[in-house]
Amino acid sequence: MKAAPFAYVRPGTIDDTVAELGRDGAKVLAGGQSLVPVLAMRMGRPATLVDINAVPELNTLSRRNGSIRVGATVRQRRVQNDDLSALVPLLRLALPWIGHREIRSRGTVCGSIAHADPSAELPAVASCLDATLVLTSARGRREVPASEFFTGAMSTVIEPDELLTETLFPVAADDEGFGFGEFARRHGDFALAGVAARVRSGGSTVEARITCFGIADHAVTVDISAQLNNALEQLGPSPTESELRRALAQHADDIAADVVDTGGDAHASAAYRRQLIAAILAREVSRAYLKSRSTSEVSPS
Ligand SMILES: Cc1cc2nc3c(=O)[nH]c(=O)nc-3n(C[C@H](O)[C@H](O)[C@H](O)COP(=O)(O)OP(=O)(O)OC[C@H]3O[C@@H](n4cnc5c(N)ncnc54)[C@H](O)[C@@H]3O)c2cc1C
Repeated sequence: MKAAPFAYVRPGTIDDTVAELGRDGAKVLAGGQSLVPVLAMRMGRPATLVDINAVPELNTLSRRNGSIRVGATVRQRRVQNDDLSALVPLLRLALPWIGHREIRSRGTVCGSIAHADPSAELPAVASCLDATLVLTSARGRREVPASEFFTGAMSTVIEPDELLTETLFPVAADDEGFGFGEFARRHGDFALAGVAARVRSGGSTVEARITCFGIADHAVTVDISAQLNNALEQLGPSPTESELRRALAQHADDIAADVVDTGGDAHASAAYRRQLIAAILAREVSRAYLKSRSTSEVSPS
């Protein structure tokens, strides 16, 4: 099938871009890795594609005020290979799981977040870190925390006339550790289920949150500090990874039962996805905890 006819514009500034987005039926074209298949299958028929790739300000990757700022046309592979992404370890852990190198060479970080596929890695990373999404339109600019950004399958709070100009990922603290794991049938496929984990161990109690994806209409974030502290009370503060995994396994089934909200599909049943989430979360939270301890111990501060 071929795409339905559409007009094509390629503005050179953010102002001109948002002016174009203010017209009926306009749609942003970033890397095209999700939009072009949608057009080809005629699942979408925008009147105008607004190609944002000629806007220089959108192609910036920088560090400012405790965040890594990823502009709208920055490719996933650029972030993966840039030294700055070492400051956001969860992003580095997640990026290699997205499709294949060729997809990551064209696909943008912001495009994946705007597309909001429930099985995609980057919306889960943004949710786990509570990244900030910066939206710009002719009406002005607003910042939305990831916790308020995703509203359902492929849907977000972005209005038709708004552009996601950049995503701000917080730089990791010295006492934080991260884990990321997923299961897909073949390398490069979207995940059947996956977990991003963030643990902070510097305070009097350990803080832990996970974001599960591929299991509901959007990624689901849960605070599991109580369960991790409970496991650590049994084991002491310096367990091995396998000891901690076993202790967390006692809680993992209950957490998985709560987060998996799907009747299943052609790829996997709900029960199988619960098993995947339980196994991945026990492993990744254990890894994140051990990393949080080792990074805070070697920290120069
Ligand atoms: C074979 C294949 C395998 C893939 N595997 C995976 C995978 O395993 N995991 C995964 O997460 N993704 C996967 N993808 C999708 C890929 O990551 C896409 O690049 C990404 O989802 C969209 O980014 P894009 O820059 O290509 O956006 P586009 O395709 O250009 O746009 C996608 C949607 O977001 C909107 N949009 C884009 N940028 C903005 C913006 N700045 N502001 C407002 N709206 C915007 C567009 O209007 C469109 O609706 C795969 C794609 C292919 C083709």
